[in-house]
Amino acid sequence: MPKRPLRIAIIGAGIGGLSAAACLRRVGIDVSIYEQARGFTRLGAGIQQAPNSIRVLYALGLKDKLLAQAFQPDSNDSRDHDSGRLTNAHALGQSVRDRHGVPYFLMHRGDLHAMLAELVPPDIVSLDHRLVGMEHAADHGVRMRFSNGEAAEADAVIGADGVHSVVREVMLGKERPRFTGRVAYRTVFPTARLGDLRPHPCVKWWGPDRHIVSYFVTPRRDELYFVTSTPEPDFDVESWSAKGDLGTLRAAYDTFHPQVRAILAACPDVHKWALVERDPLPRWVEGNVALLGDACHPMTPYMAQGASTSIEDGAILSRCLRGVERDGVAQALRRYQATREPRTSRIQRTSARNTWLKDPHDADWVYGYDAWTAPLAE
Ligand code: FAD
Repeated sequence: MPKRPLRIAIIGAGIGGLSAAACLRRVGIDVSIYEQARGFTRLGAGIQQAPNSIRVLYALGLKDKLLAQAFQPDSNDSRDHDSGRLTNAHALGQSVRDRHGVPYFLMHRGDLHAMLAELVPPDIVSLDHRLVGMEHAADHGVRMRFSNGEAAEADAVIGADGVHSVVREVMLGKERPRFTGRVAYRTVFPTARLGDLRPHPCVKWWGPDRHIVSYFVTPRRDELYFVTSTPEPDFDVESWSAKGDLGTLRAAYDTFHPQVRAILAACPDVHKWALVERDPLPRWVEGNVALLGDACHPMTPYMAQGASTSIEDGAILSRCLRGVERDGVAQALRRYQATREPRTSRIQRTSARNTWLKDPHDADWVYGYDAWTAPLAE
């Protein structure tokens, strides 16, 4: 009798869930995705994608779209917040293409999400499906229950449901992530609003207790993104719809360089997001259930590696599950965790320090990783 392909359910159609789905389908696995949202919108945020995730995205067929829609900066600059003195210009552009064979991209987060969504057939994505519970089912399977009253079964479940993961909660119990006491104000707006100002293409302005990063998100340089890390111990809401107060934001950066103040003066509105983190988890896998992306290794955004490492996860997961029969899934998932956990824990800890690229650094251990060829754990 011909083998039935593995049926894997992914909870969450974020960047991690969608890229994992594309990677798994590439090795012949039958995937269903369940997402709590009713639809997706192009919300205002930028995202950096380094060679380590670009290798995965190129193999998934996104090279032409990325080249057409994303910006390639020549360097990632670090500057003192008030004088603007350059403390580090980390070479990107041609230098990163020569060194790593693929570019370093800056782009609109919504554009990346849309590209990934186009990689999977729409009929495998069930929107308006919020996972509320899971049980063991017959034959090593897993049964999922959703808040809309529906249920489904799969041979394995991948929890790509973000930092507040319900799958993580079922596995390890309820535990809120730690609020860092800091918030990210972020927005994308047309550069036309800046008049004659020519902003640095990709820069982080380092203040004593806060910073702001800004960069273009299209090759046309017609949209600028900024994101801050600002101390605000009393605010801990993570919501795409929470708006920030422009007056408070501008006052928080009024000692910064005139270019920063001009950008904040020109921006029409801003979203506000509490920055949270977790320590590395004791385990990401239980039987035929595994976690991926922010569900298992949420991190501060200071290395711009949260989404990139979730994309790496998908590629490694697909290599571990390739050709595996149903009774081998649990072992393949343990292998996935064993391969990924040392790397993502190191990145989580490094990111938490918020010193990445402030001074000259060796970035090769992060950017040089190739999820298609990295050795798999025994
Ligand atoms: P998410 O993006 O959180 O997706 C989870 C999905 O699961 C969502 O669609 C959600 O609706 C769905 N979901 C949740 N619960 C359920 C449920 N119970 N049932 C069904 N669906 C559910 N990373 C980078 O690589 N580069 C950057 O430049 C960068 N900048 C950042 C800037 C900021 C300010 C922040 C906060 C993060 C940044 N990151 C960056 C990190 C990146 O955003 C995350 O690491 C990444 O989005 C994680 O993807 P994910 O798919 O694991 O989780």
